[in-house]
Amino acid sequence: MLPSPFEFERPSTIADAVNAVGESDDGMFYSGGTELLLAMKMRVIHTGRLIDIKGIPGLDRIALNDANDIEIGARCTHKKIASDPVIREHVPALSSLCANVANVRVRSVGTIGGNLCFGEPHADPPTMLAALDARLVLNGPSGTRIVHADDFIRSELETVREPDELLAVIAFSRPTGPVTYRRFKHGERPSVNVAMAWSLGVGERTIKSARVRVGALGSRPQPLKAVEDALQGISVAEVRPAIEAALPTALDELEVNEDRHGGADYKRHLAGVLLLRNAEEAIAAGGSA
Ligand SMILES: Cc1cc2nc3c(=O)[nH]c(=O)nc-3n(C[C@H](O)[C@H](O)[C@H](O)COP(=O)(O)OP(=O)(O)OC[C@H]3O[C@@H](n4cnc5c(N)ncnc54)[C@H](O)[C@@H]3O)c2cc1C
Repeated sequence: MLPSPFEFERPSTIADAVNAVGESDDGMFYSGGTELLLAMKMRVIHTGRLIDIKGIPGLDRIALNDANDIEIGARCTHKKIASDPVIREHVPALSSLCANVANVRVRSVGTIGGNLCFGEPHADPPTMLAALDARLVLNGPSGTRIVHADDFIRSELETVREPDELLAVIAFSRPTGPVTYRRFKHGERPSVNVAMAWSLGVGERTIKSARVRVGALGSRPQPLKAVEDALQGISVAEVRPAIEAALPTALDELEVNEDRHGGADYKRHLAGVLLLRNAEEAIAAGGSA
């Protein structure tokens, strides 16, 4: 099926893109188009105006800024993030995650911003970005606002982004401990995924704090709070028994949708297995950054 007719614009600044979307009732940003065009062709999304953001300079930049934060432009494709030297050096788990998203065609044109803004629960990057406590920089008609990755996805296919807000940058502090990611999938997209990020002092083998997120089970990534509490302040050698003790409570607290990816008990079990595999990798890395 072909999409309904629409106008197409390619502005060269963020401000022009935001204005152009705001000028129509149903304008939408167009990035890689991998989700959008499919949905328009299936006529589940209708728009009279597409605003192509590919011509805006700087939106596909990756850099470590003066504050030691890593900044990823929302227009970066999965392929670009996978091969970027800054990401490879400081967050190799994100590089590997992006190298394994979808298929080669989607990775080449699909962007991290489009992935987040579509709000699909069965996705890889949102889980890791929540574990990294990433901040999402949104540009709208009244200025810029920052939303934490944990708060960005509201429910399935719905985010807190207003239609005329453009996601420009995703930023997070350079990790000070191991960052790990595991997923299970039997179709195109992940059925369950788990990301973990430890914060350690320089040369230390004690965990100051840990962030653990489980994705694809509910509408958005969820914290494994009991596990995070159990990991805080313990030595790397104590990790495995601490996780095993906290896991039943942590898994019980998760909101789990039953769908074609499996039932609730099965998905909770998978989340536990994936978490222990994350932990093994982090321990094997010596708990070092
Ligand atoms: C076959 C297939 C397999 C896939 N498998 C996986 C998988 O295994 N794991 C996974 O995580 N994902 C998977 N995906 C999803 C894929 O990662 C996304 O399709 C892609 O990242 C979307 O990016 P895009 O630039 O193409 O977005 P688009 O399709 O251009 O846009 C998607 C939505 O986001 C909005 N948008 C885009 N960019 C911005 C912006 N900067 N600011 C504001 N709004 C914006 C658009 O208006 C639209 O609503 C798969 C997709 C396909 C088609």
